[in-house]
Amino acid sequence: MWPAGYGAALALTVDFDAEELWLAEDPANAVRPGVLSQARYGAEVAVPQILDMLDRLEIPATFFVCGGDAERYPSILESVAGRGHEIGHHGFTHRSPHLMERDEEEAELASGLAALWRFTDRVSGYRSPSWDLSANTLDLLTEHGFDYSSNLMDAVVPYVHPGHDLVEIPVHWSLDDAPHFWFDASSWDRTMRSSREVAELWGEETSAIHAAGGLVTLTVHPQIIGRPGRLRMLEDFLAGVRKRDDIWFARCGEIARAVRQPARKTALRSVGSEARS
Ligand SMILES: [Zn+2]
Repeated sequence: MWPAGYGAALALTVDFDAEELWLAEDPANAVRPGVLSQARYGAEVAVPQILDMLDRLEIPATFFVCGGDAERYPSILESVAGRGHEIGHHGFTHRSPHLMERDEEEAELASGLAALWRFTDRVSGYRSPSWDLSANTLDLLTEHGFDYSSNLMDAVVPYVHPGHDLVEIPVHWSLDDAPHFWFDASSWDRTMRSSREVAELWGEETSAIHAAGGLVTLTVHPQIIGRPGRLRMLEDFLAGVRKRDDIWFARCGEIARAVRQPARKTALRSVGSEARS
C-alpha cells in the first residue's frame, strides 16, 4: 500500500476549529468573548506556531477547516495553503451531519466547498465535525467528487469503502488531543492529562501501528494542542517519529491516492484477464 521504501504512514491532521466550534456548542456563545477567546487563541497564536514547527520538521499536514472559520480567518488559510499543506472540508458550521436532513447536509457541504475553494484548487477530503456521519454522508461525498472521508474507527489501514468510490482514512480517539486535554467551563469533572502521559499513549499506538504496517492518523486542534507545553511535546513527538526512516509522512489526499493505486492495478489485471478469456 505504501510507496517503495516505506512500511507505515503518518498523517498529521489539524482540525482548525475556531469560533464555529463554540457556536455549534451553543449559539449564545456568540456574545461571550471569554469563550470565544479560546478560538482566537487557536487561530491567531497557535496556528502560526504550528506552521513554523511543521516547516522546521519538514512535515506536511492536512488542515480540516469549517467554511465559516475559513471566511473568518482568510489570512491564516492563505498561510496554510501557501506552506503546502492540504485543506480539507470540516463542515461549514461545526454541527454534526447526523443531526441534519439530507438537504441541509448537502447545503453545508456545498457552502463549505465554496468557502474553501478561495484558498485551494481542490478539496478532496471530508472530516465531519465530531467524526460522526449521517446515513447520507457517504453518498453525498461521492456525488460531490470527494476522494476520501476521514471519520471512521473501523481499521488501522486506509481502505476503499465498499459500494462507494471513496477512501477511508481511519481515525481514533486515542490519537486525538481532545479526549486527553479538553477542558472548558462545563467540564470541571474532567482531569486534564499531562503532555508526558499523552506522548506515552501516542508513542505506544504509533510503535504498534508502525510494526503492523498501518496508518497513524494523529489529530490535533490548535486551541487545544497550542498551549506552550503541549506544543513542545508535539514537536518532540513528531521529531522522534521522523527518525524512523520507513514511516511515510503524508497529506491525507496523497494517502488516498496511494490506496487507490493497487486497487486500480487489480482492476486493470481483471479487465485484462476477461479480455483474454
Ligand atoms: Zn472539529
